[in-house]
Amino acid sequence: MKKIAVLTSGGDAPGMNAAVRAVVRTALYNGLEVMGVYRGYNGLINGDLEPMTLRSVSEIIHRGGTMLHTARSPEFRTEEGIMKAVETCRKNDIDGVVVIGGDGSFRGAQDLSRHGISCIGIPCTIDNDIACCDRTIGYDTAMNTAMELVDKLRDTAQSHDRCSVIEVMGRRAGYIALNVGIAVGAISILVPEIPYDVEKDVIDRILAAAQTGKQHFIVMVAEGVGGSTELAHHIEKQTGFETRATIFGHVQRGGRPTLCDRVLASRLGDEAVQLLLAGKSNRVVTVRNDQITDYDIEEALAMKKTLDTNLYRMAHEISL
Ligand code: ADP
Repeated sequence: MKKIAVLTSGGDAPGMNAAVRAVVRTALYNGLEVMGVYRGYNGLINGDLEPMTLRSVSEIIHRGGTMLHTARSPEFRTEEGIMKAVETCRKNDIDGVVVIGGDGSFRGAQDLSRHGISCIGIPCTIDNDIACCDRTIGYDTAMNTAMELVDKLRDTAQSHDRCSVIEVMGRRAGYIALNVGIAVGAISILVPEIPYDVEKDVIDRILAAAQTGKQHFIVMVAEGVGGSTELAHHIEKQTGFETRATIFGHVQRGGRPTLCDRVLASRLGDEAVQLLLAGKSNRVVTVRNDQITDYDIEEALAMKKTLDTNLYRMAHEISL
């Protein structure tokens, strides 16, 4: 292994820059050359890459987004696209690629591995929907961003005795909704993993809490559940409380990564390069029970992540 490349792919997440920085610095420290690839797999297909130096990754550890830019690449999902990417690697003497992204990006890494390019994936997505790791890079920052936004919203909603229906990100996973819901004292949390009954789990809870004098309510909805505007109308009709829906959207993807995400990204970036140096390929590097470990990509993608139902029960018990 003499020369590697690093790319960021799929949805961006705060901490991607810290991971790129760690990959570049660990590679250079160990005598490897390292190329930065722009716009995910598109950069490999189009040859959009350049050599990285120690200074290429200065002043990025605290920045959200990704200096390498990211993209979704439909072309990479064709045999022709993969062959162009492999050709770029061969032409540039690239022996290994570190792919920073989510599960879709890891499928792409598998394809590259099959063509003889060593690949290591680093889990980086705000949704935390990758089962083999405790936390993905970006998740902690996204939760803190959403919590701060709710704190701001509640000041105004509380002053008006309103109910706020707040939709946070998480298409297939309710981790952000559950944890932010706990952190802001939501009366009800709706996630894609757990079935719910609007009358019993939302309306009845609001009415019961109102009887004890509560005058302001937060209902937390995961993106994968959706329907926040309709839910707000229904709550207003059934309870009489003025209710507004707020969908935070992509603002949760931005901002300065938290300390946890910067440290996690640094550890995983370093480990990804160590694995390439050890001759490994087709692996996902993760932190599990606070220990660095790695899994075969196929094995990692087959794992199912479940929501902590005890945490879900607790959240509803303490928020009436
Ligand atoms: P994420 O990595 O955040 O899950 P995507 O699912 O959009 O994001 O995947 C990012 C890119 O990875 C895609 O644009 C595509 O180039 C590649 N990719 C996704 N799924 C596959 C697949 N099944 N096989 C090969 N490449 C894939």
